[in-house]
Amino acid sequence: MEAGRLDSDIIVIGGGPAGSAAAITAAAAGLRVRLLERRAVMEDHPGETLHPGVESVLEQLGVAGRLPAVTGSRHPGIRIRWGDSERFEAYGSDLKGPWSGFQVSRAGFDTMLLDRARELGVTRHHSCTVQSLLQAGGRTIGVRTSAGDMTATQVIDATGRTPFPGAGPGTGRTAYSPVLIARYGYGTGSLPELDAAPILKGDATGWLWTAMVRPGLYQWTQVALDGSKRHRDWRPTEFGGLVPRGHPRAADVTWRLSRHIASAGWFQVGDAAAVLDPTSANGVLRALLSGLIAAKLACSVISGAACESEAGALYVSWLTDWFFESARTLSRFYSDLGVAGFDESRIPM
Ligand SMILES: Cc1cc2nc3c(=O)[nH]c(=O)nc-3n(C[C@H](O)[C@H](O)[C@H](O)COP(=O)(O)OP(=O)(O)OC[C@H]3O[C@@H](n4cnc5c(N)ncnc54)[C@H](O)[C@@H]3O)c2cc1C
Repeated sequence: MEAGRLDSDIIVIGGGPAGSAAAITAAAAGLRVRLLERRAVMEDHPGETLHPGVESVLEQLGVAGRLPAVTGSRHPGIRIRWGDSERFEAYGSDLKGPWSGFQVSRAGFDTMLLDRARELGVTRHHSCTVQSLLQAGGRTIGVRTSAGDMTATQVIDATGRTPFPGAGPGTGRTAYSPVLIARYGYGTGSLPELDAAPILKGDATGWLWTAMVRPGLYQWTQVALDGSKRHRDWRPTEFGGLVPRGHPRAADVTWRLSRHIASAGWFQVGDAAAVLDPTSANGVLRALLSGLIAAKLACSVISGAACESEAGALYVSWLTDWFFESARTLSRFYSDLGVAGFDESRIPM
């Protein structure tokens, strides 16, 4: 690295949907972009049921036409069985007809976005782990990685749910729900009940989500709402006739908001900025949109069209409004069902 010369305009840390959306948007605006991803190749992981709204964001990113190639099935809504009641919640419709959600392979979906970024000239570094931030004069000027130091005018953190060690001072998160741990797993075989639409079933003690990822592959996610713990090999009885694929795994899905969403030279996007539990049904949509919007603002700052502090404040306000509104809706959903600990008044207006 030459003294005084920045390696790129924008560094994006993380190659999930949020990072790719940011990289694509910045590269399409003509900026020099580096994307750093710690994995060698993208793997399948949860986040496979996509809200119909992703299609219009993917159009803006230039990849909507590639979505069918990574889509395993489509569904018009979710079946909800809660306590003794059962209902079908449709996604909605417009003049063209009912909207449908997408079941995607995340390895395929994430790779589709990364390929688009590469086509637009983004320099991708795989097997490259960001260890800490480089800071000078009160701003973020780059990152220290397993492949050396790299500098940029703006750094976008898209590292997902778990903050990377060395993410810098003030990167803590504030929780807005009781601790929520999701357990999830996969099974292969045939489960016709799930072929038409995913099922969310539960009661005041917890919920279980089951869905077909693609014909022959099914996924479940379970969250306890009463603090109870399952054995680590627990699987839903519905999956008894399927062949387990891998061991069940766990993820912390406690609702939380970062305390460092934007500052000089720095934006956080996707789960790095805000996490809600999967019943919100829009984690990937939120990741794509936040990546796109943060990158547009970073481009405006770099071109001189926007003042950095105002761009940061605008982004923080948009993201926190969305987070709190979604958290209030989820709080009402849980408290209407008699679940303790989800008082809407805990969420700021
Ligand atoms: C059990 C479960 C079920 C879910 N189901 C759904 C669902 O059905 N629908 C939905 O929309 N959402 C769902 N979600 C949420 C969804 O998975 C996330 O909101 C979404 O993946 C966030 O995207 P992201 O790009 O912010 O982060 P991620 O997809 O997590 O990507 C982050 C990337 O950053 C990389 N990275 C991390 N640290 C570093 C580092 N230090 N250096 C370099 N690279 C790094 C990681 O390897 C990863 O590729 C679910 C979540 C869970 C836990």
